[in-house]
Amino acid sequence: MSEPIEVRVPDIGDFTDVPVIELHVSAGDEVAAEDPLVTLESDKATMDVPSPVAGVIAQLSVKIGDRVSEGSVLLTIDPAGGAGEGEGEPAAPAPEAEEPGPKAEEPAPTAGEPAPKAEEPAPTGDYECDVVVIGSGPGGYTAAFRAADLGLKTVLVERHATLGGVCLNVGCIPSKALLHAARVIAEVQEMRERGITFGEPELDVAKLIAWKQSVVDKLTGGLAGMARARKVEVITGEARFSGPHELDIAGERKLTFANCIIAAGSEAARLPGMPDDERIIDSTGALSPDDVPARLLVIGGGIIGLEMATVYDALGSRVTVVEALDQLIPGCDADVVKPLHKRISERYEAIHLSTKVASIEPSGEGLRVELDSGATETYDRVLVAVGRRANGNALNAGAAGVEVDERGVIATDRQMRTNVPHIYAIGDVTPGPMLAHKASHEGRVAAEVIAGDKSAAFDARAVPAVAYTDPEVAWMGLTETAARERGVEYERASFPWAASGRALTIDRAEGMTKLLLEPGSRRVLGAAVVGPNAGELIAETVLALELGADAEDIALTIHAHPTLSETVAFAAEVAEGTITDLPPQRKGRR
Ligand SMILES: Cc1cc2nc3c(=O)[nH]c(=O)nc-3n(C[C@H](O)[C@H](O)[C@H](O)COP(=O)(O)OP(=O)(O)OC[C@H]3O[C@@H](n4cnc5c(N)ncnc54)[C@H](O)[C@@H]3O)c2cc1C
Repeated sequence: MSEPIEVRVPDIGDFTDVPVIELHVSAGDEVAAEDPLVTLESDKATMDVPSPVAGVIAQLSVKIGDRVSEGSVLLTIDPAGGAGEGEGEPAAPAPEAEEPGPKAEEPAPTAGEPAPKAEEPAPTGDYECDVVVIGSGPGGYTAAFRAADLGLKTVLVERHATLGGVCLNVGCIPSKALLHAARVIAEVQEMRERGITFGEPELDVAKLIAWKQSVVDKLTGGLAGMARARKVEVITGEARFSGPHELDIAGERKLTFANCIIAAGSEAARLPGMPDDERIIDSTGALSPDDVPARLLVIGGGIIGLEMATVYDALGSRVTVVEALDQLIPGCDADVVKPLHKRISERYEAIHLSTKVASIEPSGEGLRVELDSGATETYDRVLVAVGRRANGNALNAGAAGVEVDERGVIATDRQMRTNVPHIYAIGDVTPGPMLAHKASHEGRVAAEVIAGDKSAAFDARAVPAVAYTDPEVAWMGLTETAARERGVEYERASFPWAASGRALTIDRAEGMTKLLLEPGSRRVLGAAVVGPNAGELIAETVLALELGADAEDIALTIHAHPTLSETVAFAAEVAEGTITDLPPQRKGRR
């Protein structure tokens, strides 16, 4: 058994007495070599102190806020307790797969999870490719392109004829194209109250859907071109493992690989007991309608359901939403969802919270839906948007020894390795929020690890979530709901858009920008925005979190006037007690 190792502050230049701003480990945690242990901050930068070895944390010698200098002992590691470099621990259990959007308790979905067991060294056999990627969604194509750019011989296997996965074909992109059309219609209608009246919109559904498809085709065609330019071999067919280094593709071809990245994504979850009727659709069906139903029931008040409701409401459907939980967009703070709820309750036929669908009976008249409250109504179409299910169970992953849980989720470590060291998993098939930007970020990590970058790891502090509803709802990092559940202390500062000149000029005073800050340091821990363009505005707060910025940094950053981005600075000024765009605050700091 080896002696415990003291981890000390390395050479940090001329700095002394720098504060410890983050502890990534606790006593008893197992760590791999290079895992970040402690984050220090000087005037110039923040710096992670990595673990020199794999092992178990025996004792912490510092806490957050302590000041340290070169040579100060940070903690002690027992190297005998952990695995050697490149080895690790069993993969963590995967959380429930639900909707796009982080769950309240995340920020970093995979960061910090233990590494799975490494049972073999890097593969050295005679394989047909260095890396094969299964699935060409935002996770898969990013991983394949990055791997090729790093000099690896790369093959991308996709069961569909077009690349791009759910996101490009039947997810993010087509939904946002239709949401753009919806916004134009809504804005034109709103201008009636402001002195400009256009005629009623004349809808050519076939033309609208053709335009949406042309956007999709442009992007998916672009991917095919970029794959060719990188010499990534694209194989069309369904891949299944037939061994630890071998895939069977559509029962027609075998492919041997040194490394594999599983990016098989997810599919819409089904509600049990639904009758088989073409008027009951999922999000894919909702994105390519032949016509606009007069009455639409949306089952599921999460992001996908509400985005589709936004589209159909603008196109002229009378929309009802049924949500089993007591809030729309569960996981997001209630005060942030409130302006959206208020606006859509005025536009939609009904919103039922804490309600489930008991039964659906198809007839010539429509779909007769009974709710568990006993109410019955007949709709022309029913959209089921109750979450998504990971695709891990259709890969015959057991043939390669890869563990998949009963929900189809594949657990990984921070380097995206599964329990089989040369097989990685990324995106919707892994734990965490089902979001395209999480998938692509993980794809890069997996490719870089395979290319030999030992420091590559998923260490993002937050994955932002956006509902592109009207108004948009966006949040990142800590939420108040999660803070209360976990007993995390925070300061809250919010700015109402009713006091934003820009919000008034676009006639959208209902918005709100909120920052959650660490008490004392006022570092950004989380943020949320509701209002038009919230999805763009949240980016500044994610950057602030990643850089360890505090409210003063944001408040002293000059934001152009009049913009909605000012509301982020104004919220920071509220925290600082320096706000002049609101009536005098009771507790001014300066
Ligand atoms: C309507 C809708 C709107 C959305 N909007 C957003 C949004 O605005 N922003 C956002 O971030 N996210 C959004 N999402 C979620 C987003 O689409 C997913 O998070 C993202 O596509 C996941 O990427 P991925 O690479 O993990 O998998 P996917 O995009 O699901 O791609 C997986 C690919 O793997 C292929 N595949 C699976 N198994 C095999 C196999 N055995 N062999 C070969 N190929 C296989 C599939 O055919 C698919 O092409 C939306 C989803 C939906 C449904």
